[in-house]
Amino acid sequence: MPALFSNPRFQTPNPHSVIRDPQSPLGFVTAYVPEELFHAAGFTPVFIFHTSSDHGQARSHLPGFTCWAAGSVLDQALSGCLDRLTGIALAKTCDTVQGLVDLWQRNVPSMPCFHVGMPVRLDSPTARAYLLTELDDLRQRIQAQGGRAISDDDLWESIALYNQTRTLVRQVYAHAADLAPPDLYELVRAAFQTPKRLYNDNLTRLLSQPFLPPDQKTPDHSVSILLVGSELGDPILFDVLAHVGVRVVGDLLDLGERYVAVDSVMDGDPLAALADRLLALLPTPTQHHPQRSRSAHLLALVRERDADGVILARQKFCDPHGFDHVQLTQTLAQAQVPYLTLELEQASQAGQLCTRVEAFVEMITQVGG
Ligand code: SF4
Repeated sequence: MPALFSNPRFQTPNPHSVIRDPQSPLGFVTAYVPEELFHAAGFTPVFIFHTSSDHGQARSHLPGFTCWAAGSVLDQALSGCLDRLTGIALAKTCDTVQGLVDLWQRNVPSMPCFHVGMPVRLDSPTARAYLLTELDDLRQRIQAQGGRAISDDDLWESIALYNQTRTLVRQVYAHAADLAPPDLYELVRAAFQTPKRLYNDNLTRLLSQPFLPPDQKTPDHSVSILLVGSELGDPILFDVLAHVGVRVVGDLLDLGERYVAVDSVMDGDPLAALADRLLALLPTPTQHHPQRSRSAHLLALVRERDADGVILARQKFCDPHGFDHVQLTQTLAQAQVPYLTLELEQASQAGQLCTRVEAFVEMITQVGG
């Protein structure tokens, strides 16, 4: 588990600012897992990010054209890196993740796998009823596994805690342009790997102070970009952006701004509140809502943040983001917004990424005059 705010600039005197052993850690992947349900049952949901290490355990189970985001999770499980987890949770989104559910049940039988169906057409008249049924079924399975009932009060308490986290992360994004990209995404990624109360306490404390001394802010004249991709990208990319001196002024990452943009409404039935939030989010490329177009959202974000360009960082072999890329780039090209496509691999090379990003920045700077 990573230290919370391990960057010295973000460290507080609080002795609890380092993760201790969380209670019943439960891994999850995909951007549609209702974390609050697991939290209300006493688990600590922890996102399993892919790593660049390959223990050689997953390849024999997967076709060669599987993204490493999913391959790494299976590799980590089969090589024992996830043995401390009490289970894994996945929303059935892309084909790869659906295949991972089957592989998991067969090859990692010691670790319970919770999966939840997510409607593809978010505007479908049956989407809400379908999702509610899925969430109710998931609640029963978690209760059976956890050995305790999840009361509505427990669930409301967890929803309130998660709403607080989302509010705080939105405040971090309000400072995005002032932060070096690795610092910005360290704060955001920590939200997915840290017990919520600890995260909320530390981030509240951090945000109550002057955020950064003026001499540590990223200079205003540097090129500003929006970042598009799955999950929270590859940390090496954030280092490259910092090295080149690029400012990230917003993103369309699956676990980025879109994920924290909507809170659950604290009213009525808590399961319905969870379902309505998931349905209200801007879709990832695995889901679809005709009135919530990702390309229109991206273009509006470019205008609103006055971004100089867009970097689309796609995991190699990720079909959903590949199809999405076509629509996004057509929209950007028509609007004459500069963009760069990067393909991230299992072990992306900083040098190659650096050369591509430097050339992109140079092109923007020359065109801008
Ligand atoms: S959405 Fe793409 S990157 Fe994510 S698991 Fe599916 S194929 Fe892999």
